Amino acid sequence: MQSSMEASTFLVLENFIGGKFTPCPSHIDSYDPSTGKVYCKVPDSGEREVEAAVAAAKEAFPAWAALSPDQRAQVLNKMADQIEAHLEELAQAESKDQGKTLTFARTVDIPRAAYNLRFFASSVLHHTNDCSQMDHMGCLNYTLRCPVGVAGLISPWNLPLYLLTWKIAPAIAAGNTVVAKPSEMTSVTAWMFCKLMQQAGVPPGVVNIVFGTGSRAGNALVVQPDVPLISFTGSTATARIITERSAPYCKKLSLELGGKNPAVIFADADLDRCIETTVRSSFSNQGEICLCTSRIFVERGVYATFLERFVAAARKWKTGVPSDPGSSNGALISKEHLEKVRSFVALAKSEGATVHCGEGVDPLQLPERNAGGYFMAATVISGVPQGSRVMQEEIFGPVTCVSPFDGEDQALALANGVRYGLAATVWSRDVAKVHRMAAGLQAGMVWSNCWLVRDLKLPFGGMKSSGVGREGGKDSYHFFTEVKTVTIQY
Ligand code: NAD
Repeated sequence: MQSSMEASTFLVLENFIGGKFTPCPSHIDSYDPSTGKVYCKVPDSGEREVEAAVAAAKEAFPAWAALSPDQRAQVLNKMADQIEAHLEELAQAESKDQGKTLTFARTVDIPRAAYNLRFFASSVLHHTNDCSQMDHMGCLNYTLRCPVGVAGLISPWNLPLYLLTWKIAPAIAAGNTVVAKPSEMTSVTAWMFCKLMQQAGVPPGVVNIVFGTGSRAGNALVVQPDVPLISFTGSTATARIITERSAPYCKKLSLELGGKNPAVIFADADLDRCIETTVRSSFSNQGEICLCTSRIFVERGVYATFLERFVAAARKWKTGVPSDPGSSNGALISKEHLEKVRSFVALAKSEGATVHCGEGVDPLQLPERNAGGYFMAATVISGVPQGSRVMQEEIFGPVTCVSPFDGEDQALALANGVRYGLAATVWSRDVAKVHRMAAGLQAGMVWSNCWLVRDLKLPFGGMKSSGVGREGGKDSYHFFTEVKTVTIQY
């Protein structure tokens, strides 16, 4: 694997344009979240670098689009082979760069990155188009689909290679070429992936990766006239800016945004399974997954029992050094983010809520070398009013709030009473109740008696402020292609 090290031992990344590594004159510092120290320099790309990448993608487009889906699928499968062959290196790098546990990177992030490529390599072979007859007019109608052109892909820091490949795979499987901009805070595995793409024989210019900040590199991509579509995953605040800036160009947008996901737990739930899963859904990856549970509504009859058992289970969710196999959580992404997450706990306290465990209650035991890392223990809060910012805003950290409810109607009102609508979970043994709740919840995805089980064939995405559009098998194919209706009179 390519590794470019300065005398000072910083890892120095380069852009990947037209199949070649291209140095950038200026860099941004990137931190190891588990120590708080700079260890990597990420290109601070701007308009010039984005222009070069778009030009390379435009040049590569006609030949790539002309290949059969099967030929493109073979390339995607070779990319997946490379990821699998380098799984351990990639997992180590992802953990160091993002702060997540090595176990999570090894079992979730990197295997899923390979699977994204395999899934779209396969699914692209099976799409069919629409056809309709109008015999009374002697007409036959059918649809054609073709790739759109150069796709702009912008991804966040929480699941770096996982979400980058979730965009690259469907885009190129459908015949587009891409310019991708990963988060400036987690660029390392994307850069390692560039070398793997060379080894997989991805034709030059089909995938270009430009590193840098959102305000420079990201913005340059959003306003580039030759990029007709943008697939964005990140915060609702950034989506608003992207929507405004891309509007003059009428770009096609897919927006996968934040969440404030409720778990609704009825008295008849299997509490053992529910508590084990809800601890995982609240705290996995330090709570830095858009689908994490951050509001838990429990039917009053089991509220006290649930709270006591849930707090005991949360205390066992150990926060520690990311490489330690005993750690359930590692470090949060940055100092600023840690401070933001802590400020929500402080706000809850100032509003009279009770912090049962974690922040300010259970001290962390960390080695000396990790004293400057961005660690925070799994935190459970109760007594937060529904109108509080703590209940309304996305915290995106290891913090979850527990509240009681009485009956289905109140559960729905509380669960739906936020501006977000990404995911929800319902815990009950009553099948009819589960179906009623699933129909009433304002969320793009509803899980019952489980969490984070995903069939990539089905739509993924949020309603309300959690997003616009859906991703997944057919939905991604539709986003990354233009459809044309043809009518023939015979
Ligand atoms: P963010 O919005 O700050 O950044 C996301 C990406 O956008 C980064 O690459 C960033 O550099 C870029 N960006 C920032 N400003 C930009 C601009 N003006 N123009 C173009 N690009 C710009 O989000 P984040 O903090 O990296 O990620 C966390 C957020 O992502 C959370 O809100 C989380 O819920 C959300 N998320 C959503 C999903 C989903 O599928 N719905 C998945 C993961 C994360």
